[in-house]
Amino acid sequence: MSHAYHEVCESIARAAKDCGRKPAEVQLVAVSKTKGEPEIRPVIEAGQRIFGENRVQEAEGKWPALRAAYPDLQLHLIGPLQTNKVKEAVALFDVIETLDREKLAIALAAEINRSGKAPRLYVQVNTGAEAQKAGILPQEADGFIKACREQHGLTIEGLMCIPPVDEPPSAHFALLAKVAKRNGIEKLSMGMSADFEEAIQLGATSVRVGSAIFGGR
Ligand SMILES: *Cc1c(COP(=O)(O)O)cnc(C)c1O
Repeated sequence: MSHAYHEVCESIARAAKDCGRKPAEVQLVAVSKTKGEPEIRPVIEAGQRIFGENRVQEAEGKWPALRAAYPDLQLHLIGPLQTNKVKEAVALFDVIETLDREKLAIALAAEINRSGKAPRLYVQVNTGAEAQKAGILPQEADGFIKACREQHGLTIEGLMCIPPVDEPPSAHFALLAKVAKRNGIEKLSMGMSADFEEAIQLGATSVRVGSAIFGGR
């Protein structure tokens, strides 16, 4: 696991240098969904501090103990968030990457005001306009980002996308970068185990890598 982890770190650094970027501009979010503490701990001990989980409840089961042991860990929520889990998500996560609808923006704004804790927020864009996939449609993204900022008082730090599995991802990464640029957003969460090098070429500031580090699920 830690061997695979180091290889992924090297590949990220190489991909950044190959396109004239600094390796430090690209963060690795190690996606630990379905993996338990025995698999996660060696990766923490190898130096990784940023982890991604896709379910609030699963994350609540395994991260509080690890966080107590390693106070500088950062957790990203990368899976869909139901409004009835917003309280738990705001309490546990440092970054929520899956803000994608008005109802969720309202619930997040209320919980941030109530709790005084403000996770950094990314808007998920459904770049492939897939019916079964979460995310705001590309043509609705500008209006949604504006509403998040102006009506709900939320700071939008980044955008996130998951390209369709059966299409080359580059056009989706380029589209996400374009939407970010015209909305004055600097952070781009895009690229997974199979395509993080291309995502880095197209401007990813963080890549979400699971199976290349932890093996299959
Ligand atoms: C599981 C998951 C990943 C990681 O996928 P791998 O192909 O295992 O690297 C990245 N992003 C999201 C949103 C995921 O759910």
